[in-house]
Amino acid sequence: MVFSDSMRCEYCARLIYKNVSGKYNLCSIKCKNYFRKNKLNNELEKIILDNISKGWNEINILFSKINFKDKFEFISAIGRMVYFDKTLKTKTKNELSMRSLISIVKK
Ligand SMILES: [Zn+2]
Repeated sequence: MVFSDSMRCEYCARLIYKNVSGKYNLCSIKCKNYFRKNKLNNELEKIILDNISKGWNEINILFSKINFKDKFEFISAIGRMVYFDKTLKTKTKNELSMRSLISIVKK
């Protein structure tokens, strides 16, 4: 399999350096386990969209607002929304962190 620069993990949406799955594009054993256990949490994505404020939101603040238990699952959902669904956008050119700013993409 050939890797392009833009290949991202199907779970956490980070760039893949080493794919650990044959069938999907997954960056780590951790993502593989989460992906198997949770698939893609569409309900969480809906909660994020319902709770995000107008303008730029720091992921940290949104996380405490929603009071979701799993930080990794949370930031992975945001990553997928930014890089795959494109329902959210970010200011950062680096990989997302809890400090990154995100905003809703207006349709
Ligand atoms: Zn991953």
